[in-house]
Amino acid sequence: MRAGAASRTVTPDLAKGPVFMAGFDNNRRATAIHDDLFARCLALQPAETPLVICGVDSIGLFWDDVLRIRQTVKTKLGRNADVIVAALHDHQAPDTMGLWGPNAATSGINEDYTTLVIERTAEAALAAIENLRPASIALAKTHPPELDTFIHDNRPPDVHDAELILLAVTGADGKPIATLINWANHPETLGSRNTQITADYPAAIYKRLEERRGGVAVFVNGAVGGMQSPLGAKIAGIPDNSFEKAERIGQRVADIGSDALEHAQPVNITRYEFQERVVRIPIANKGFEQAAQANIYHGRKPSVDGQTSVPVGLIRLLDGSKPMLEIALVPGELYPELSVGGIQKYAGADFPDASQEPAIKSLMKAPYRMLFGLANDEIGYIIPKSEWDNQPPWLQNAPKRWYGEQNSVGPEAAPIITATLKELIESK
Ligand SMILES: [Zn+2]
Repeated sequence: MRAGAASRTVTPDLAKGPVFMAGFDNNRRATAIHDDLFARCLALQPAETPLVICGVDSIGLFWDDVLRIRQTVKTKLGRNADVIVAALHDHQAPDTMGLWGPNAATSGINEDYTTLVIERTAEAALAAIENLRPASIALAKTHPPELDTFIHDNRPPDVHDAELILLAVTGADGKPIATLINWANHPETLGSRNTQITADYPAAIYKRLEERRGGVAVFVNGAVGGMQSPLGAKIAGIPDNSFEKAERIGQRVADIGSDALEHAQPVNITRYEFQERVVRIPIANKGFEQAAQANIYHGRKPSVDGQTSVPVGLIRLLDGSKPMLEIALVPGELYPELSVGGIQKYAGADFPDASQEPAIKSLMKAPYRMLFGLANDEIGYIIPKSEWDNQPPWLQNAPKRWYGEQNSVGPEAAPIITATLKELIESK
């Protein structure tokens, strides 16, 4: 096994015109940089081809942009590499999806900035490959109840996928190379009124994890849909919407993860498998179609015959034929009950009798199971079909519509994506 890691900043230059911040309302213009945004990549090479996993402090990167990153890496490397790019869904970063421009009819994408993110992420991936050296891997997982206290879910069912799963890589010389950490929560602690660019709680994960363990910290978000947020999660003595709160969450996540890794034993990894399938999902969301017609996405995510094409993938790290770590690659914001189970049948749902999707993590076979959200694409919320609710009466006879469907492609997203993952997991 050989491993390498590298990071590059993707912080915007505020002197180069207005920077529209993503994730809340239109026209939130950045006024300052609080801390840097990053593309952070881990490369693993058990056999010939390197596998590269990159986490990027961005609201979301579309499949079109990920293909540009992959092509840049391949061209500059001169050989094949399997590159995974997961945006962390940072709500305090520039708009790379177009939805948060000066007004709803005007895209917030700045193509120069998007190009910078693409080039720097490709650079970080290439530097991680260049840094490959003999290494050993340790895996850990932990789920103390404290992790759930940082997540507030404002839509039933109240389900979190709060387990921390970690992969630590140490050089054969004993020096740390990187720690990959996978957790699920919206990076939006600072809320909708902040105008300072920040990586939000992941900034504190990077800092603390690198202090405790050395090497490069790489964070990848998980099933953040439905709605996993620090915004309604109270921490005693710490004000809401504050940098102090973001720092506390990130520090605790990093500390809990580092503690778990202290007892982790090295595992033998002899090879990896990477499967990816591009599937088509019907676009039921009229708002998404209108945004595309208004050129909000600048030509990305073209609709063909009323469908959008999205990548769904699976990574396996194996010891011989034995899977040690499986990673589901989900192209958006998965409702956590689709990851860990707990789908409910509610009065008021539009398709209450739709068959319930299997829980992705329960389909997996490896002892360690990660799920990357916004992996290689960001199509918005992925909602269990039986919980889909676009027509009154509303779930549980609520007086108004629940938040979710307006940011989802449609009710077929979850059945198609989970069925694809099931096939990938059950294939050899
Ligand atoms: Zn979101």
